[in-house]
Amino acid sequence: ETLVECHDLGRDYGQHTAVDKVSFSLSRGEVLAFLGPNGAGKSSTMNMLTGCLAPSRGSVRIAGIDLLESPKSAKAHVGYLPEHPPLYPELTVNEYLAFTARLRGLRREKVRQAVARARARCGLEAQGKRLIGHLSRGYQQRVGIAQAIIHEPALVILDEPTVGLDPIQVREIRALIRELGQDHGVILSTHILPEVTATCSRVQIMFRGRLVYEDHMAAINRGH
Ligand code: ADP
Ligand code: ADP
Repeated sequence: ETLVECHDLGRDYGQHTAVDKVSFSLSRGEVLAFLGPNGAGKSSTMNMLTGCLAPSRGSVRIAGIDLLESPKSAKAHVGYLPEHPPLYPELTVNEYLAFTARLRGLRREKVRQAVARARARCGLEAQGKRLIGHLSRGYQQRVGIAQAIIHEPALVILDEPTVGLDPIQVREIRALIRELGQDHGVILSTHILPEVTATCSRVQIMFRGRLVYEDHMAAINRGH
């Protein structure tokens, strides 16, 4: 099942081309990394795939739906964890996830079940009534991932998902990402290679706005 088809995607900021001729596709069950240094164009690409940033050129289809023609129905298939998610430290995990479920258009009677399910999938069974502000960074990131999957999207996009976490939290979040990859398609952006080897089935290296390399991790690990 093809979840993303992206053709010649491009984005300019004024005279500066931040993303150029990006084409790729993604199937369910894949965890695809966009690896590249800061400024390579990863966040701009993520933001275009989620419909948060208008492309200057090119096309994106999500689950077969043209994102530019039918943004609302395409976006319903996408969950997103931005690099700097807004935190609501004074809300409980349940309150925050219920709020994001409503934002995603879930009917009131479905919210409780969706919150419980997202919590269970993200290892937050015991944290429902905790205040977000009282959680560790690692658990806050689990909450970030839980809100990204609250509406059971086909595609999950994670922008630098382990930045700022300690090594144990990094390991736990990476394990969670691998689990998500079994049911969803996952795209993540990162500037660190170990993130790719630990979590991804496929990598695309981005440099100065272009995809300069792509391969399956299995091929890289066997050295071809
Ligand atoms: P990455 O996520 O790989 O660090 P970005 O997509 O954030 O890359 O940035 C790619 C390029 O686009 C950089 O040169 C950055 O300075 C530029 N850029 C990003 N956002 C904006 C913006 N809102 N206005 C102008 N330039 C931007
Ligand atoms: P638990 O199951 O953690 O003991 P409760 O039985 O109090 O907690 O129910 C928690 C459930 O409340 C969550 O799983 C969530 O689905 C639901 N819920 C729905 N709306 C809200 C809300 N506005 N605030 C808090 N929780 C909500």
